[in-house]
Amino acid sequence: MASDWTPSSWRNKKAAQDVDYPDTEHLDRVLSKIKQLPPLVTPSEIERLRHQLTTVQKGEAFLLHAGDCAESFDAVTHENISNKIGLILSFSLILIWGARLPIVRIGRIAGQYAKPRSSPTEKIGDREVTSFRGDNVNGLDPNERTPDPERLLSAYFHSTATLNYVRGLLTSGFASLHHPRDWSLSHVRSPELKKEFERITEGLSDALGFTHTIGFGAADSTPYDQGGTRGVLGEVDFYTSHEGLMLGYEEAMTREFPLASSGLTSTTNAIDGKQRRNGGRCSYNTSAHFLWIGDRTRQLDGAHVEYFRGIRNPIGVKVGPSMRDEELIRLLDIINPDKEDGRVTLITRYGAAKVEQFLPGHIAAVQKSGHPVIWISDPMHGNTQISTTGLKTRHFGTIISELTSAIRTHAAHHSCLNGVSLEFTGELTDDGFSVTECVGGSMGLSEDELGLRYQSFCDPRLNFEQSMDVAFLISNHFKR
Ligand code: PEP
Ligand code: MN
Repeated sequence: MASDWTPSSWRNKKAAQDVDYPDTEHLDRVLSKIKQLPPLVTPSEIERLRHQLTTVQKGEAFLLHAGDCAESFDAVTHENISNKIGLILSFSLILIWGARLPIVRIGRIAGQYAKPRSSPTEKIGDREVTSFRGDNVNGLDPNERTPDPERLLSAYFHSTATLNYVRGLLTSGFASLHHPRDWSLSHVRSPELKKEFERITEGLSDALGFTHTIGFGAADSTPYDQGGTRGVLGEVDFYTSHEGLMLGYEEAMTREFPLASSGLTSTTNAIDGKQRRNGGRCSYNTSAHFLWIGDRTRQLDGAHVEYFRGIRNPIGVKVGPSMRDEELIRLLDIINPDKEDGRVTLITRYGAAKVEQFLPGHIAAVQKSGHPVIWISDPMHGNTQISTTGLKTRHFGTIISELTSAIRTHAAHHSCLNGVSLEFTGELTDDGFSVTECVGGSMGLSEDELGLRYQSFCDPRLNFEQSMDVAFLISNHFKR
């Protein structure tokens, strides 16, 4: 644990995007209740992810971070959860097949409720109301915009229900690479996309049959990064994440445990001097395996950076065009002073036209500092625009352009893109169609069609087909 740090030391600093609760005693009562509730994830799962991220950092695995911009309580349903997991599995299967690299999967799921906003109020009709801050703070309905602490408790239980079902799906055969057709491809109408995916699943079936024949199947318990097949074939690993925005909630979910073993490395190696001084105890945020600091809350002297520096979880930081080179290094010095591998993922999100302007400087500064980082590209958040019909959208071509610029720039600067962070959804409308929130892709979605099935109440997400297009593109790029 970092010196002078406690799970509540962030309270002495200014928290950007702070929520104004009308009744703070009510908030304190709710947070005390949450403190008593059991962890959602365990220290050894968190250590397992940290270890797998070290393999990503070395370029031996690829990180897929993906899901909704914001989850909503109403969307916690059997169909939505299985469609989300199905999409993440399908996406990663395409990458595994093309790039021949293990994929580490982190969903924006089971807790991704809070949203930072560019303005504290917004205009709805002729009313100026408090902005919607996510289901764990206030309601989307303009009459429910007063922050209500009970929503934090509700977020805990909706996260629990989601995670419980995800765990169930992953341990009951749904995630088995022997049955990839179960992952919701049935609604895909494009014959080309279907054919391409079937070609991969047939190839995979043959490969699985072959490994089974030579006695190297899903029963193998050797971790994939030690030469085994677990986590790649058969049973898969899956991790949860959200933006660590509501620090009262994150504090309440932070628990002290002895340094856990990931089951993948020897614990003695993992205990560094600092933890030993602390009696081998660590503070784990038990609400998710991975948390990230948003682009609006990464102030060096702010409350979010203070909270994040003390937790043992692997963490992400959004890096946008306003991040100065030296600021990035000062931030890394604060959140990873011992330069631990697998600890920090930098999620760059500049906007397609700005990658070449900002990424080379960031790469050079990090290289010079000797900080180990995982570089992933978020090609969504720098590329949001308003369509001619007034809907928030993103163009497929621009998303691909940021992604390919990032791949190219890393390669040109002796660096490597280690993964991608996407907002996508496998969600279907009641009549069984994919959502229409982003323009373009192989289905050629036009701006006029956005209004047909626009379901996001936050940022526009790639739909199933558009996500598959991105997966094929990345997979072709990394083909080996
Ligand atoms: C997000 O990831 O949904 C988000 C708000 O991103 P950023 O902090 O990069 O704007
Ligand atoms: Mn978003």
